[in-house]
Amino acid sequence: MALIPQEIISGFCEHFGTTANPDIYRAPGRVNLIGEHTDYNLGFVFPIALEMACYVAIAPAEHGSLRIYSHDWSDEASVPVAFIADAKASGEWSDYVIGVAHELTKLGILVRAANVWIASEVPAGSGLSSSAALEVSTALALLGSRSIEPVELARVAQRAETQFVGMPCGIMDQYTSVFGREHAAIQIDCRSLEHQYVRLPDSVSIVAVNSNVKHELGTSAYRERVAECQEAVAAIKQLNGDVKSLRDVSLSFFQEIQESIPLVPRKRARHVISDSQRVLDFAAASRANDLDEMGRLFVASHRSMQYDYEITCEEIDFLVDTAIKLPGVYGARMTGGGFGGCTVNLVAPGQMSHFQERLDSAYRQRFGLAPAFYDCVPARGAGRVDLPVSSTRA
Ligand code: ADP
Ligand code: MG
Repeated sequence: MALIPQEIISGFCEHFGTTANPDIYRAPGRVNLIGEHTDYNLGFVFPIALEMACYVAIAPAEHGSLRIYSHDWSDEASVPVAFIADAKASGEWSDYVIGVAHELTKLGILVRAANVWIASEVPAGSGLSSSAALEVSTALALLGSRSIEPVELARVAQRAETQFVGMPCGIMDQYTSVFGREHAAIQIDCRSLEHQYVRLPDSVSIVAVNSNVKHELGTSAYRERVAECQEAVAAIKQLNGDVKSLRDVSLSFFQEIQESIPLVPRKRARHVISDSQRVLDFAAASRANDLDEMGRLFVASHRSMQYDYEITCEEIDFLVDTAIKLPGVYGARMTGGGFGGCTVNLVAPGQMSHFQERLDSAYRQRFGLAPAFYDCVPARGAGRVDLPVSSTRA
């Protein structure tokens, strides 16, 4: 569903019963091409920001609260601005919004009473980061004309999720939503928080395929993986006191010492360290227009998530295994946190409709469920939406 400003403005005005002209902010979702679960281990990731975005319309109000309405959830939450500093998570969708307000307040940035109307094109819970799109667009909306360093914007949005919502995620999603750029993937160094843009070959299309399943295991398993990586770091520290995160461990050093790490954390570390290296290899292959190598790295990354990180599931493995046998497919892998959500596929543009037809029918036949397909074209990062004069109300 593509959203247009006129619909956002009329949705806002109808819901809040006002004729006030809201400002609108947009922040994109993202698809990660390679480097999964490497961000909280301070390694490399390689996402693109998507055209699909979350939109937040906001106008100041006199009622002393943040009234927050999600068009997608058809639900409203409200918090008096005086209570934002003491607010606690409730387990509801609105935590992502109130969490951002709370984190801004902690920085000494005043959050003013307002009506806030939210609608998103990013499918929720599918690994395309609807949560970061919501956090970043909310942060921009609450900031209004006040400016903040882009990297601080990403960090505030991340803290809303790690500190307030309570999900120990890395920085990739929020960073990508802020720094996205048209025609380019972003190679992010999650330790230095620096990035470089890498152009992708024109001769390949990127398509995300939504399995439309999300296994409940996801959140607890995510925490478990974070803890297992810390166990691996603790074991490696015994051999080299300088190691603070898996980022500090080279693949060759890991191969030398891996036997001294207990089996489960060893497998987790092997995934993280090898996938972070695959980011660098993928960027090099991309610069060299080497589609076969890009595809090979995709599949290697998937197998690493399947067997070492153990975060895939039957539906996702089926989508990958089926896709890579189709003509014109260079590679496929799961993207995002895991246990469902989306795969990402590198497909020759001329084979796209055949790819979709075949994968759609195979998946329906096997699971009785339709997958969804999203064309992934690298898009710009978050910002204010300039409204054409005709779309504002007098
Ligand atoms: P992902 O980020 O991969 O989409 P998450 O589980 O991290 O999945 O975030 C999804 C959650 O973010 C939703 O369950 C909901 O709480 C919140 N969310 C995302 N988009 C919206 C929206 N448009 N309205 C309300 N809540 C949303
Ligand atoms: Mg998320």
